[in-house]
This record gives sequence, structure tokens and C-alpha cells, in this order.
Amino acid sequence: MSNLAYKIDILVIGGGQAGLSAAYHLQKLGLTGGRGFLVLDKSPQPGGAWQYRWPSLTMKTVNRLHDLPGMGFAEVLDPGQTEVRAAKAVPAYFKAYEDRFHLPIYRPVTTRLVCNRGERLRVETDHETFSARGIINATGTWDAPQIPYYPGRELFQGRQLHTHDYQTADEFMGKRVVIVGAGISALQILDEVSHLADTIWVTRRPPEFVDPAFGPDLGRAAVAKVEQRVRQGLAPRSVVSVTGIPRSPAIEAMEARGVLNRRPMFSEITATGIRWPDGTEAAADVIIWATGFRSALDHLAPLQLREENGGITMTGRLATQVARDPRVHLVGYGPSASTIGANRAGGAAARELTRHLGIGKT
Ligand SMILES: Cc1cc2nc3c(=O)[nH]c(=O)nc-3n(C[C@H](O)[C@H](O)[C@H](O)COP(=O)(O)OP(=O)(O)OC[C@H]3O[C@@H](n4cnc5c(N)ncnc54)[C@H](O)[C@@H]3O)c2cc1C
Repeated sequence: MSNLAYKIDILVIGGGQAGLSAAYHLQKLGLTGGRGFLVLDKSPQPGGAWQYRWPSLTMKTVNRLHDLPGMGFAEVLDPGQTEVRAAKAVPAYFKAYEDRFHLPIYRPVTTRLVCNRGERLRVETDHETFSARGIINATGTWDAPQIPYYPGRELFQGRQLHTHDYQTADEFMGKRVVIVGAGISALQILDEVSHLADTIWVTRRPPEFVDPAFGPDLGRAAVAKVEQRVRQGLAPRSVVSVTGIPRSPAIEAMEARGVLNRRPMFSEITATGIRWPDGTEAAADVIIWATGFRSALDHLAPLQLREENGGITMTGRLATQVARDPRVHLVGYGPSASTIGANRAGGAAARELTRHLGIGKT
């Protein structure tokens, strides 16, 4: 690799909702694409992780998507078109957005490492190397699926997959399927698969279903709790683990069909199924791990941003700034890991980082 490093003020790493919001605000603050800022995105197309979502996730079954700043989704998709696949609609919206604002996005480019070089940060990618004064990291979670370890996992003769690799329920027709997890994805997969297969649903803790009427208040309270955690340097927890799951018509229909029959977590995986601590066993052909994702931050490891407990202490108005290195902002992380949070965080990070570096309009 050449030692030549392209000088740039701010690199945004990741071109999903959080990265695009940051780019929009950097441009508004007067930074120019190229020497001022650039977005590096690993994905081949616009759309962030939405381009990879499973086909049955439609605009009707997504939770709720918030518009990017400055241009509404409705300009691209009629709000009545709820049956459209999220993996088609969101990328089309992001593409129109990138074109409208002429955002400087360089893809597909994977950032491999970010290292401290005194005044500057060296950013190594699978293409060029850059020397930046600051970074806004917006790499999401899709590239870091999380599967907890249970003894016997390697003995299982059936198929194991994570939500990340789930495509369609048809693949599981007539099979015995264990679904692990208490989040929204676990429930959507359970709903689809249980129409075609025998399912066993296991979760570590009993899921907490909440009245959707309290949704916005619970959402705000959950974000505040996650924000408090990251400000203390603790690992962020998923927002659902703090809010509970809204009791939707789909959940009520599953309850009526008798598939919301939650079992506690098994203690062991055998060659042919799962075993609980009391020795009870269940045969299974497939285990689907709907056990969430962690933040994809491995490329930042050389910066040593983590505390001893593994968390990263965050500061700044919306807790996007890394306390150990104020030149580094994380957006779409912790309290901003939602489309609305990512939007706001992009703006806050752009303003704080340009102010910190003494560049752009005030
Ligand atoms: C199944 C699922 C459903 C969801 N549904 C909703 C919902 O309905 N409503 C909601 O508000 N939130 C939802 N979320 C959460 C939501 O996806 C996020 O909050 C938001 O879309 C994430 O945006 P982001 O920009 O942070 O990340 P992403 O959309 O993941 O974008 C990150 C981008 O960074 C790129 N990247 C990653 N690593 C690198 C690297 N090393 N170098 C360069 N580029 C890199 C990726 O390729 C990707 O393009 C859902 C999440 C999941 C997993």
C-alpha cells in the first residue's frame, strides 16, 4: 500500500441514514465535497443496511421510518404504497436524496482501520488512504450480527442462521424451527415462519408487551436511558430492551393462533435439537438466532476509545462525541440507533465537530 494519504477535513464513514444526515449538515455548514468532507460507504448501492433487509419486510411491516433532513420520503414513494419492499423503497429514496443534494459519496469503499497520527487521523480503506482532521462514524450494526454462545452449537446437525441471513419463511416449510430472541425481528420472523412450520420460541427474559398508545413516551424514555448509559461509558443496550414491544394487531393475531407460547432459554444445543436445564429436550431442524446486532466499530480499535468495561464514554449535546477523542463522533450509535435518532445525531455531530476543528460556518 502506498504511503500517500489524501488530506481531508472530515470523513464520514458509512452512507446509511446517519451518514447521509451528517453529510447534509456538513454541506449546509459550508464544507465542500472533496477537500472539506467525503462519505465512504462499503455498500454497493445507496440505502445503507436497508438494501439487505429480507424480502418480506415491507413498508407496512417496518416500525417507522423518519425522513432524512431536507427531503421527505413522500417525494419518492406514495405513502399509500405500503406493500412495497423496504429493501427497494428505502434505497430508491436514499438515491434520490444523494442526487438532490449532490452528496460526495465514494462507494463501495470499506474503511479497514483508523489510527491516531497526532494532529490527524489516518484512515485506511480497501482503496485509498486518507488523512483526516476528524471523523463521523456512521457504520451501523448490520455488519456485526450477534449470536450468544451456547454449549453444543458446533454439534448441531441442522441449520443455524442469524436474522442477518433470513430471507423468506418458505425455506422452512414443514420444518421444526427454534426462534431465539425477544425483539421486533424475532417476532416478525416467528409470525411468518409459524404459518409454514412448527415453531418453538425461546427468549432469555419474558418479553414485555406494552400498549402502543404509550409508544412515543416510552420511546423517549428509552432513548434517555440509553443516552445515560453511554454518557457513563457503559455499553448501549438495544432500545427495545428498554421500551418493550408495542402490542400490535400482528402480535394479537399471533397470540390468537397460539404461537406466542414463549419458552425460557435452553441451556444446551444437541446434535438434533435443544435441551433445557431440567433435561427436557426438543427436536429441531433449524435454529434462527434473532439475537440482534452490535455496533460495527472494529475499524476504530487502534484509537483505543473503549473503557475497561468495553463501553465508550460519550459526550456532547446528543452524546455523539467520544470523550477520549473529541475528533471522533459516533452517529447511529446508542441513543441515536434509530432513523429519527440517526437524523438528529448527524446534525449535532456535524455542528460540534466543525466547531471543534474551527471550520465551516458557525
Ligand atoms: C431488521 C431491522 C429493522 C429495523 N427497522 C427499523 C424501523 O422500522 N425504524 C427505525 O427507525 N429503525 C429501524 N431499525 C434500526 C435502523 O436500521 C437504524 O436505526 C438506521 O436505519 C440505521 O442507520 P445507520 O445509518 O446508522 O446504519 P446503516 O443503515 O446500517 O448504514 C451503515 C452504512 O455503513 C456502511 N459501513 C459499515 N461498515 C463500514 C466500513 N467499515 N467502511 C465503510 N462503510 C461501512 C454500511 O455498508 C452501510 O451502508 C431496524 C434495524 C434492523 C436491523
